[in-house]
Amino acid sequence: MGVSEPVKINDILLVDDNPADVRLIHEACREFELPVKLHVTLDGSEALEFCYEACSNDTLLEGSRLLIERVQAQASCRDCSCVYDLENLFSSCPACGSAASDLLSGEELRIREMEID
Ligand SMILES: [Zn+2]
Repeated sequence: MGVSEPVKINDILLVDDNPADVRLIHEACREFELPVKLHVTLDGSEALEFCYEACSNDTLLEGSRLLIERVQAQASCRDCSCVYDLENLFSSCPACGSAASDLLSGEELRIREMEID
């Protein structure tokens, strides 16, 4: 087994909704003169759409569209059993303020329908 070749990275997909973090990554790429193209998406749905388009180029799926139906994330509080909508991963219980919860929905990822001509 020989010495492996360095991996060439041309594109980086950054999933981050914090502008300060995005600016930091941009500055780091510039400072270290990384020859990469940085793509920024705000959330997982946008990242999935970006990856779908990138991976479908030059395939039968080129030009097709990915329609994402977002599901509201819900959690159940471990301390008071309140069921509430999660605004983000760090949301706490609106009834008692507890951060201890069990995720009830919001991690689903399934193909509901596919239309092919
Ligand atoms: Zn609670």
